[in-house]
Amino acid sequence: MIVGIDLGTTNSAIACFRDGAPQLIPNALGDLLTPSAVSLGKDGSLLVGLAARDRQSTHPDLTATAFKRHMGTRKRYTLGRRAYGAEDLSALVLASLKADAERFTGETVTGAVITVPAYFNDQQRKATRRAGELAGLKVERLVNEPTAAALAYGIHERGDREPFLVFDLGGGTFDVSIVEVFDGVVEVRASAGDNRLGGEDFNDMVAKLARAAIDPEGTLVARGKESLFHEVLRAAAERTRRALSEAEDALFEIVWEGKAYSHRITAAEFEAAADPLIQRLRDPVLRSMRDSNIAVGGLSEVVLVGGATRMPVVRRAVTRMFGRFPNHSLHPDHAVALGAAVQAGLKARDAALEEIRLTDVCPFTLGVDTAMRDPTGRLVFGVFAPIIERNTVVPASRVHRFQTLAENQKQVEFNIYQGEARAVADNVHLGQAVVPVPPRPAGEVVVDVRFSYDASGLLEIDVSVPLSGLQRQWVISSGDGGDSPEEVAARRAALAELKIHPRDQASNAATLARAERCYENFIGERRQHIAEMILTFEAVLARQEPHSIDDMRAQVEAALDQIEGERFL
Ligand code: AMP
Repeated sequence: MIVGIDLGTTNSAIACFRDGAPQLIPNALGDLLTPSAVSLGKDGSLLVGLAARDRQSTHPDLTATAFKRHMGTRKRYTLGRRAYGAEDLSALVLASLKADAERFTGETVTGAVITVPAYFNDQQRKATRRAGELAGLKVERLVNEPTAAALAYGIHERGDREPFLVFDLGGGTFDVSIVEVFDGVVEVRASAGDNRLGGEDFNDMVAKLARAAIDPEGTLVARGKESLFHEVLRAAAERTRRALSEAEDALFEIVWEGKAYSHRITAAEFEAAADPLIQRLRDPVLRSMRDSNIAVGGLSEVVLVGGATRMPVVRRAVTRMFGRFPNHSLHPDHAVALGAAVQAGLKARDAALEEIRLTDVCPFTLGVDTAMRDPTGRLVFGVFAPIIERNTVVPASRVHRFQTLAENQKQVEFNIYQGEARAVADNVHLGQAVVPVPPRPAGEVVVDVRFSYDASGLLEIDVSVPLSGLQRQWVISSGDGGDSPEEVAARRAALAELKIHPRDQASNAATLARAERCYENFIGERRQHIAEMILTFEAVLARQEPHSIDDMRAQVEAALDQIEGERFL
């Protein structure tokens, strides 16, 4: 079976295409969303999902979250005695989702369509694909998140659709796509985005606001405890921000070193402080409209996706920007996984999707660095030469011819970049291709550089030197190696050896982690009550009687709901 997976910054989801429609699959806790979090438990096993997320504030040194923000980089997360890359942690989340799907459907999951932010660069995409392989999945295709959402929206009522805009603000990234459906072809006309803008940035903003009020002198936190304090602030900010989606004001509350602190934030204050973030939403929207040649009046709908579009301040900004109310008929947290499942159905050639096709675009420009002569004849280095321009339909293949610059030059070096800036230094460096050339006078040797960009957004480069007949091919790798099939197999074996917390214990682990977190977040009588419940629950767990465990767990969850409000994903 091929599944569709939304591998999110905050939460992930898995879906399959069945009986003519995409369907979400619940995890071991019965939830449709699984927090993208990994934590090392007391017994040395790894927890994935809700229990891991709840350990973020109680055991920040043993827990990793939001690692999607560091996909394709060398950043390591140390959990206990081992260090993991963002790719490994993502592989653990994917493996957990795969296990859930296999348990739920009774079928073996062989392949997956995984979604990525449209703005993910080549390194981030390759890292995502490798994460899939590490989880034992054949990655059939990577699909851009707003494209997946558009696919879910586009097929949800069959028929042609005027261009619509998908506005996708998630936990960590912002993507915009303009899409049209015509004759069964779901066509992405343009995509743009900002892969450093999401709900987490609003949390940081709330944390800063509250911190200024709670700790005006900056004396509350001892050196060395800053990152723990930051986690506590971030978790409280998330609660406050969600509460502000429903109310005119909300209390920001933390407990730090046994003392409670709180600060009331009004919706108006929040909105004023959010303004710089809201302003950053404009650029990608304008760019996608300019690139697709579609004016506001030519858009039939603005479709909201991503959990962070639940914030009223974002909805108001969208209404102002487009002069109309946005459409929120798609479930903001489910749409991307459902769209991925549609793509999985297309891959599996599901009969219900016979007439549907999808065309996507490359959301950014790809090119190399060159030197150009200015009017005085002086060579200026570091100038970007685009080869595939942004919003070209993929798959795409483009070739550019370059000439040697120096007398008797023995090799030509191409640095490959992604971005829109004229100076290569301001773009993202993806890799390098070097070819030898026969020594000749400057300008006599030509070199052809071909960029091929596939439907998943992965780049391949061919360089040929007609004079010598030389041809070379590169697949740009993420720079941290580990790319060859043998290396992937070795890493997969290493991950397979890790002790994963048993799936059938997931609910108990999640309840315990939640109770521990609440214990730290409250003081006084409520704390005392939580401590007693944890002791009782642990005693019941030790007796291993399934019925009493289930009863007690339900009691603890209900009591915690009373104390802190219902749990959210
Ligand atoms: P996603 O990456 O699409 O799962 O979106 C996750 C983001 O949505 C996180 O930053 C959440 O804080 C945010 N989010 C989810 N529900 C709400 C809500 N009710 N109000 C404000 N933000 C929310």
